[in-house]
Amino acid sequence: MEFELIIIGAGMAGLPCSIRAADRNKKVLLVNKNKSIGGKLSRSTGQIAAAGTNLQKRQNIYDYPDLHFKEAWEICKSTADQKLLRLAIDHLGETVNWLEKIGVTFPDNHPVITYQHDIYSTRRYQWPVGFGKEILDKILPIIDRFISSKNITLLNQTTLVDFIENNNVIEGVVLLNNEGKKLKYYSNNIVLTAGGYTNNEKLFTKYSPKSFLYTPKFNGSEGLVHKIAERNNFKIDGGELYKGMIGGVLQKSSDKHSVSVSINTIPQDRQPWEIWVNSQGYRFMREDHPSADYRRHKVNEQNMQKFFIIFDQGIFINAPPISLTNDGGLKGHINNQVSLTRYTSIKKLAYEMNIDFQALLNTINEYNNSVNKNNDTFGREHLPREINNPPFYCIESVAFALPSPAGIAVNEKLQVLNNDNIPVRNIYAAGEIIGNTRIMGEHYIAGMGVGPTLAFGKLLGENLK
Ligand SMILES: Cc1cc2nc3c(=O)[nH]c(=O)nc-3n(C[C@H](O)[C@H](O)[C@H](O)COP(=O)(O)OP(=O)(O)OC[C@H]3O[C@@H](n4cnc5c(N)ncnc54)[C@H](O)[C@@H]3O)c2cc1C
Repeated sequence: MEFELIIIGAGMAGLPCSIRAADRNKKVLLVNKNKSIGGKLSRSTGQIAAAGTNLQKRQNIYDYPDLHFKEAWEICKSTADQKLLRLAIDHLGETVNWLEKIGVTFPDNHPVITYQHDIYSTRRYQWPVGFGKEILDKILPIIDRFISSKNITLLNQTTLVDFIENNNVIEGVVLLNNEGKKLKYYSNNIVLTAGGYTNNEKLFTKYSPKSFLYTPKFNGSEGLVHKIAERNNFKIDGGELYKGMIGGVLQKSSDKHSVSVSINTIPQDRQPWEIWVNSQGYRFMREDHPSADYRRHKVNEQNMQKFFIIFDQGIFINAPPISLTNDGGLKGHINNQVSLTRYTSIKKLAYEMNIDFQALLNTINEYNNSVNKNNDTFGREHLPREINNPPFYCIESVAFALPSPAGIAVNEKLQVLNNDNIPVRNIYAAGEIIGNTRIMGEHYIAGMGVGPTLAFGKLLGENLK
């Protein structure tokens, strides 16, 4: 059976792709492994950066894609795919306008500047009032309407398992449904929007061999299509640029896939009262360094991508809570609050956390001297009080993965490339499956995960013949 588009994956990229193709009266087959559509939309905060939006115009914010691109290129230190970054930025404004058009609402004070990542010079960062879930809520009735009009045929609980090839050209897909039945469909436009692989540690280690995978638990992201891509000689790259987000706390120290909370490590939001030490017992950076990118890179350099946040009873009582960013931006990641263990001495803390005691003691003494002299070796400016009143506390924090770093290579038409950089006929890709370092390089650019995922999905739906 033939469709004008076959879209594999009904998440953040696949859904706008289906809708925009159906808007043009195309016949779309939407294939989704999960029981229901949405992918990670309902888990994501939905943070998008965009220049030239109606939202900005209504607030007299003068902004345009050239400026956004210039700043994004500087933030990523020229490590992203320049053409794809530009393509994304050129289409982000209309993507945010489209979200508004389908009924997604943004808070009155948005767009904003936030400090979770290195900042833009102007307010171009927003997320829906109801986070990613609100986008899904507004998309669901549209998809239902197109299912009724037969523009979209939706197959949930159905998985892409192979391609149909004829004379070395991919002409269709082989699917497996939940009854174990194999189905074959043909199309000149097969769009891969099947998400990432952060639930697959083996693939993660293969693509980013120097990194550790810490991640929250969620269904999906097993990298099933990455394996099919490998078999078909599609190029997969970008994993070596991976740098985890900082501030993750493991629910169970022994379980690397139990990141449950992201604590506030943003000095512009909450000045640090604690010190950060590595597993050798040493401080390794200025904890109040204003650059999010600098802090992120420093933490990722530490043994096992982890560090320990250490404080005492005096800080516990006097400091503002070290919980979450107060701008709402990270709330979407939260399931549980941090639980704190008390230690009666530094020695006990060091023993329990497997940190070198003597080194830790020296580090704390040195830090206390810095507080007294008001002059810190690392240049830290916020030195509110010494660490010397038991009990002592320690939060073990890891750099963790949300979007997958590596992905299937695509060109500016979002055509998949093979290992010789030649476009693979009939195959396109968008979303997390192309890898988030393709757009951000080695340095996180605010709002450039969710934004390009929606924008590229939408773009393919609008343009595929
Ligand atoms: C808690 C959390 C917070 C996040 N926060 C951020 C953030 O702040 N910023 C950011 O940039 N990113 C964030 N992300 C990541 C972001 O949500 C994803 O990158 C984005 O949702 C990916 O969209 P997608 O459409 O590519 O894939 P998904 O939304 O994951 O959808 C993929 C779909 O493909 C389907 N599928 C998979 N394999 C197959 C197959 N073989 N055949 C058929 N269907 C298949 C799945 O069932 C799924 O429905 C977060 C993720 C999580 C879990």
